[in-house]
Amino acid sequence: MKRRAFLRNLGTLGLVGSIAGCKYWPEQGLRNPCLNTLPDSVARHPLVLSLWEGLDPTQVWDSHTHLVGGGDPLTGAWYSPNLDSVWHPFLRMQKAFYTNAGCMRGETHAWDQSYVARLSHLLELMPPGFKTMLFAFDWYHNEHGDIDKNRSMFFIPNVYAANVARSNRERYEWVASIHPYRRDSVDALKSAIRDGARAIKWLPSAQGIDPMSARCDDFYTAMADSKLPLICHAGLEIAVQGGHQEFGNPLRLRRAMDHGVRVVVAHCASDGNDIDIDQGPDGPSVRSYELFARMMDEQRYANLLYGDISALTQLNRNWALKDVLKRVDWHPRLLNGSDYPLPGIMPLFSATDIANMGLIDIAAVPLLQQIRPHNSLLFDFMLKRLLRFEKQGFANSVFETRKFFQPSSGSADTLIRKS
Ligand SMILES: [Zn+2]
Repeated sequence: MKRRAFLRNLGTLGLVGSIAGCKYWPEQGLRNPCLNTLPDSVARHPLVLSLWEGLDPTQVWDSHTHLVGGGDPLTGAWYSPNLDSVWHPFLRMQKAFYTNAGCMRGETHAWDQSYVARLSHLLELMPPGFKTMLFAFDWYHNEHGDIDKNRSMFFIPNVYAANVARSNRERYEWVASIHPYRRDSVDALKSAIRDGARAIKWLPSAQGIDPMSARCDDFYTAMADSKLPLICHAGLEIAVQGGHQEFGNPLRLRRAMDHGVRVVVAHCASDGNDIDIDQGPDGPSVRSYELFARMMDEQRYANLLYGDISALTQLNRNWALKDVLKRVDWHPRLLNGSDYPLPGIMPLFSATDIANMGLIDIAAVPLLQQIRPHNSLLFDFMLKRLLRFEKQGFANSVFETRKFFQPSSGSADTLIRKS
């Protein structure tokens, strides 16, 4: 088995059990050792310090960070019992990887707190002003707008994300998740804005959201009024299981943009294939990324469509890096995010692989590998900052995302004022 194919398969987290005996082993093993203090010599290494050259840290917001929990009844966070079931070994394994990546320790009831404590600790190595945007995650809802717990995988309440952000305003912003079929979706949007949400997050395949459904229209109108952006996963989604992969078709987001909603396509839709429904329901199956790229190049979406580069360095997505780096014309519409805790899932990333693709200097690999077990957030940031293809890296604006989420005009308050 070729290294790339092996690692790509491993990226699904479905084949970890079969790697024994395989010639290749993930370069940093399977488990994150969750080390605490990064040696000063590393933290102050000239290459590490150089990452901030040209950046104003107060403008650097990590636009894609997951809040994980479900052990502590006080937070209201929940995860499906299937993640603990012997009948769902794949889900059990996923859960083990996530809890390890987020360095969640102790008894289950302490997990929520320890997840946030670890993240806050990692943020201490970032310069003052740097913030991460924490994602809430709404329930799966059926077509009538009712919660279907049996089909939900996770639930992270908006109020929990808002509270964590409030507990450390120097480091956190938060992103609400509101299912558009909810009968109170517009009211929930207004209340999220009042509580300081910077965006709305959807994962259509896992939440049962068809972005092309007319059921979304009222919500889209309210979103467009508020100017709050929608961060939406598109393309194949395996990190959170769900039965509606077709809802992840990037072309289904045309409806949101045609209502005037600013849309951020997570990971630039860099995994999987979707039907080219521009050619009708029986159109050919093409790379989801190609469909995203097509819309990026349509003039009418120039101020509406954006892409986040979170997880693009992951093994199953890094094929897209050269293309995205080359598209300098897109850079003003690209936003950095870490997809934390995923950079802490050890088999999912390989700095060596990226160096072998000619995208970073091989000499930087040992330093990246040394940083990662201590601070996967810094590892992710460093890897992205070092990327070069034909001397072209990501523009500084890709990292200075604050202006996108907090336009100086304060236009996000428009909806509140109108109501
Ligand atoms: Zn994500």
